[in-house]
Amino acid sequence: MSQDRSVTVRVPAKVNVQLAVGAARPDGFHDLANVFLAVGLYDEVTVTPAEQLRVTCSGPDAAHVPLDRTNLAARAAELLAARHGRTADVHIHIAKDIPVAGGMAGGSADGAGALVACDALWGTEASRDELLDICAELGSDVPFSLVGGAALGTGRGEKLEILEVGGDFHWVFAVADGGLSTPAVYREFDRLTPDAPAPEASPALLDALRRGDAEALAGALANDLQPAALSLFPSLAATLAAGTDAGALAALVSGSGPTTAFLAADAESVRRVAEALSASGTCRTARVAGSPAPGATIL
Ligand code: ATP
Repeated sequence: MSQDRSVTVRVPAKVNVQLAVGAARPDGFHDLANVFLAVGLYDEVTVTPAEQLRVTCSGPDAAHVPLDRTNLAARAAELLAARHGRTADVHIHIAKDIPVAGGMAGGSADGAGALVACDALWGTEASRDELLDICAELGSDVPFSLVGGAALGTGRGEKLEILEVGGDFHWVFAVADGGLSTPAVYREFDRLTPDAPAPEASPALLDALRRGDAEALAGALANDLQPAALSLFPSLAATLAAGTDAGALAALVSGSGPTTAFLAADAESVRRVAEALSASGTCRTARVAGSPAPGATIL
């Protein structure tokens, strides 16, 4: 195989439009009702044949991405290689545009991207089910990065039911200065919510997605991790207020944070909210993105 052959896969970030969290299970995970929506902020993962497994990363947050075997893209390549009796002899390059440690599943996106890219490069021809299986082994959010669109995740989030979305939604994402560790946010959730009820998807929210109704979706957005994220990162309250003051229909912490998400009524209002957030001094940067976005796609 020539060294100049490469495969590039584009993978989206996600926002949790509903994240209902149950009490901690004996295995430490939490049961979830997790409504994922893929949004148009993307990483691109390129794999090229190499002497041995190597990861590089470019982009504004590249310094915060681990380049060793803990990188989810490297782990994805190794898992696929092991299942097919070969070595993971690839150079993986991640062109990172998804905020790191921002609650937007950037690492998960890279895992799904590397998996699809290596499958194509090596001609493994793994079935969709096998790819989803490897994704679930990599992490709870990884299967969704593969499929994109919108989906309801149950169990610890990895059992996916594809959801219908009846229209486009306009978002602004305010990227915070600093990150939040997902396990730390769950620990804070456990401390704040000792008697969490069993999580359930909201019928009103699923209906709003199906109808593509932004106002109704705004009224149904819910993130059970938000109080925990605010407790660990109190300045996020000012960011949320800056976006709603600027006319966002609703604001919430994205996943475990600290990225905050703002749903706007239309393309014009989304620009106004982004400009106001950028000028507010309450975040590092504000990014506009549409949804739903496709899952891992070979370019
Ligand atoms: P989630 O929303 O799934 O909880 P997140 O968006 O909060 O995740 P990530 O950007 O996925 O967070 O990064 C979380 C941590 O994972 C990073 O701090 C980093 O140490 C590690 N990590 C492993 N692989 C990657 C990768 N390819 N890109 C970014 N971070 C990675």
